Amino acid sequence: MNAFQKLGLEENIIKAITDLGFEKPSEVQEKSIPLLLENDSDLVALAQTGTGKTAAFGFPMLQKIDVESRTTQGLILSPTRELCLQITNEIKQYGKYYKGLNVTAIYGGASITDQAREVKRGAQIIVATPGRMKDMISRRLVDISKIKYAVLDEADEMLNMGFFEDITDILSHTPKEKSTWLFSATMPKEVSVIAKKFMRSPIEITVGNKNESTNQVSHEYYLVNARDRYQALKRLCDANPDIFSVIFCRTKRDTQKVAENLIEDGYSAGALHGDLSQNQRDLVMKSFRNKQIQMLVATDVAARGIDVDDITHVINYKLPDEPEIYTHRSGRTGRAGKTGISMVIVSKSEVRKIKSIERIIKKEFEKKEIPDGMEICEVQLMSLADKIHNTEVNHEIDKYLTSINELFKDTTKD
Ligand code: ADP
Ligand code: MG
Repeated sequence: MNAFQKLGLEENIIKAITDLGFEKPSEVQEKSIPLLLENDSDLVALAQTGTGKTAAFGFPMLQKIDVESRTTQGLILSPTRELCLQITNEIKQYGKYYKGLNVTAIYGGASITDQAREVKRGAQIIVATPGRMKDMISRRLVDISKIKYAVLDEADEMLNMGFFEDITDILSHTPKEKSTWLFSATMPKEVSVIAKKFMRSPIEITVGNKNESTNQVSHEYYLVNARDRYQALKRLCDANPDIFSVIFCRTKRDTQKVAENLIEDGYSAGALHGDLSQNQRDLVMKSFRNKQIQMLVATDVAARGIDVDDITHVINYKLPDEPEIYTHRSGRTGRAGKTGISMVIVSKSEVRKIKSIERIIKKEFEKKEIPDGMEICEVQLMSLADKIHNTEVNHEIDKYLTSINELFKDTTKD
């Protein structure tokens, strides 16, 4: 009996898990799956991004719904279109051995008619952003009066984005007798208000911060003059030729500008923020996932929860106001057993924020220096040598490195 079977999951799901290569349940899965399978209680689960929440509610939901029926039984609300699509794909994979299962994504910026048609074909599970969902309910394009399970995913983020009223409205169209499962990375007052308002004595579980417990992310900061911020960013990228990174800015404007500058300067970058059209956002996410671009410059909201493996570096171009947001950012790297680096570029006036973040992540930052031209040159040549596998060329590179070393000897401390 494997560790997933022990949680009470049935064969159809176990087979899908095996296909996916999951070896053992994550902590949030271990804690919530048996609970949700056994009874119909409400649940509040606090867990950081990247801890496997989708499966924590997805597995039990799949096992509990009736796929023979065409009625919509499960509703998952999530803050952004990107997350909505990600969850939909994930649930489809988890449920691929359930014949007749239909999972439909509902989100703004795409044809409402197409989505309505899909719903009509009989979606047992709907994954939706609150805005479009509310819209479709008011136009009677979707019926959630018989749902049995409602999930509020990334509840803190949905409330941050001002979805309180939409959520209230949506839930008012659902039956009283249902289970509500709320997942959130943090527990601000607004989330407990929602929990009190819509849930009946929910069971609460909390899962340790993934970054702390597994130690996979190291944290570094670089102190620079505010006006040198962009130069510093470029050097950090130059010093890591194989970087695959998310660069966080605070505003949409900064995000756009940094991405544009990087592209102009010959870097492989793209911007992701709320002012772009849905098409542009899809396109940039696709290129990033396919590794056609190395650096995704993003706002916190646009990048929240996005799950791309193999991110080597998270770069905080500007620190967020709230230290908690830093944990979401750094959680983008060091996933699936890999190591990652979270870098922060700070000016003098922000450096005190490092302390408050250290208290939250319970880890210390390493203070580092922005690499100089010589170091970058060396790194780049060595990375080139690594890729070429040709002794003759490598020999030339060695010679070259030695000679520039000579050349730079007296000028490195400029
Ligand atoms: P969260 O919603 O908490 O941010 P996700 O549900 O998006 O996390 O999961 C993050 C990644 O981990 C996904 O790629 C998912 O496929 C993978 N994953 C989930 N559960 C497991 C597991 N038990 N073992 C290995 N990988 C897992
Ligand atoms: Mg998630």
